[in-house]
This record gives sequence, structure tokens and C-alpha cells, in this order.
Amino acid sequence: MLTDYHLHLRPDEPDTPPERFFTDENVDRYRAMAEEAGIIELGASEHVYRFTQSLDLWRHPFWEEQARDDLDEYCEFMRTTSLRLGVECDFVAGSEDRTANLLDGRDFDYVVGSVHFIRGGAVDHEGWDVWDGEGDPDAVWRRYFETVAEAARCGLFDVLAHPDLVKVWGRGRPRPARDPRFYYEPAVEAIAESGIAVEVSTAGLRKPVGEIYPDRAFADMCVDAGAAFTLSSDAHVPEQVGYGYERALEFLDRLGIRQICAFEARRRRLVPVGEDAGG
Ligand SMILES: [Zn+2]
Ligand SMILES: [Zn+2]
Repeated sequence: MLTDYHLHLRPDEPDTPPERFFTDENVDRYRAMAEEAGIIELGASEHVYRFTQSLDLWRHPFWEEQARDDLDEYCEFMRTTSLRLGVECDFVAGSEDRTANLLDGRDFDYVVGSVHFIRGGAVDHEGWDVWDGEGDPDAVWRRYFETVAEAARCGLFDVLAHPDLVKVWGRGRPRPARDPRFYYEPAVEAIAESGIAVEVSTAGLRKPVGEIYPDRAFADMCVDAGAAFTLSSDAHVPEQVGYGYERALEFLDRLGIRQICAFEARRRRLVPVGEDAGG
């Protein structure tokens, strides 16, 4: 089986009203692209910060600007489709209880946990760039993976999204002096202890770094730690569904990963990875 669980039904631009994108026609476009790629199991996981309810978790100016929609309307719409219901929820340190309330009150099939921000700065957003005024790449990488470890350990999420997103800019930002495995260590330890699934995401292939998330060394450490994996494209338009999956399948194969996770009602099962017959 092939899955694509980390999907956004609309682009990140603010001017993308839900009534234009949360439609049966748009879902059909995602389905059609998925079928071409042999992907049967699909789910959407919109950013939590697009919903007004997220302002209970954090009042970062970027969230204030983005939080326009109603989370329950999104959930309701999704239940009229054939897609699994997910959400991409940022880890916000200190807001774990409020995050639990937001998630537990709704019938998600799975929750994708993300770290996009460390303190007030974003690792993947130029408007709030964590690298502005930060001279020490080792400090950024250390803080990033420590936060990923906290996200894994908080127990709120089923999947850890794009686990080494901090590399997104590739050569566009400084690299740490130390071997990155030193920074991966606490995150992988938290993954092992929590049992959270690790996302293999082809989104990085579309970004300046031009690589799958996570890096091979990070993935090797996860395999050694006995982690389970998911497979996703983080598509923001239908054309990106299943993007780069040939590369991802090679990547999984080289790692010796033969099974990936499927989700329903926040229960996970392992399924053999591979193209579905007739796809
Ligand atoms: Zn993300
Ligand atoms: Zn995403």
C-alpha cells in the first residue's frame, strides 16, 4: 500500500478561502492524482494555525494573521469526503494541555505533529526567519532537534512531520560545525521512547535543500531505534500528491523499511509498503 497523509487542500497563501478549496471538486482532483500514482490511502492535515481555535495555543503574530477558519467546519467537511481526517499541529511548549483539549475534542484519524518555530523564529518561513540575527548554526540545530524531541515526547501526536525541517534552505543557511548526528541523538531517543511514527516526506525535494526529510543518517538512527514510518508528500496543490514517490520508495528500500503506518481513529496499523494493484 501507498499512503499520502500529509496533504493540504489549499496553498499556504492567506488569500485561499476555505469555500474555494474545501470542495468535492478539489478533493476529486487530489484523488485523481493519487490514483495515477497508485496511492489509495489519502488524508488531509491542514495547518492548525489556519483555524481560529489555534489562538488558544499561541498568539504568534503569524498565527494571528493566518487564523481565519473554523476547525469544526473543516472536520465536518472532511467527514463528507473519502479522505482520512488529519491535522498538522505545531508543538507549542507550555500549551500541551490546551493542545490536548483542541485535539481530543475532535475525531481525527491521526495528528501530524510539527516543529516550524523555535521560540519566535520559523525554520522554514522567511517572514519570521529564525536565522535573522542568529549567528550560531550549532545553536539553531541543537534547539531545533531538542524541540523535536519535546514534540515526540509530549504524547499529543501520532506522526512526527518532516523531522529535520531545519535543513530546508540547504546552502542558503549556515550548516553546523558538528556532525549533525550529535543533534539528531536527543530527537531519536525521544522517538524511540514515545513510539511516535516518523514521517518520510518528499516535500524537501521541492525545497532549496532538494532532499527527502529526514536525512539518511537520521533515518538510519530511527531504524536502529525500532521506529515506525509514514510516507507523505506534504502536497499543497493536487499536482504535488505523491510527488517524488519513486525516490521515497528507493529510500525506504535502502533503509530496509518494508512496512509503513496507516491510521484510522488514531489507531495505527502497519501495512506492507508498495504500489497498490490496479493503481
Ligand atoms: Zn509542516
Ligand atoms: Zn504540511
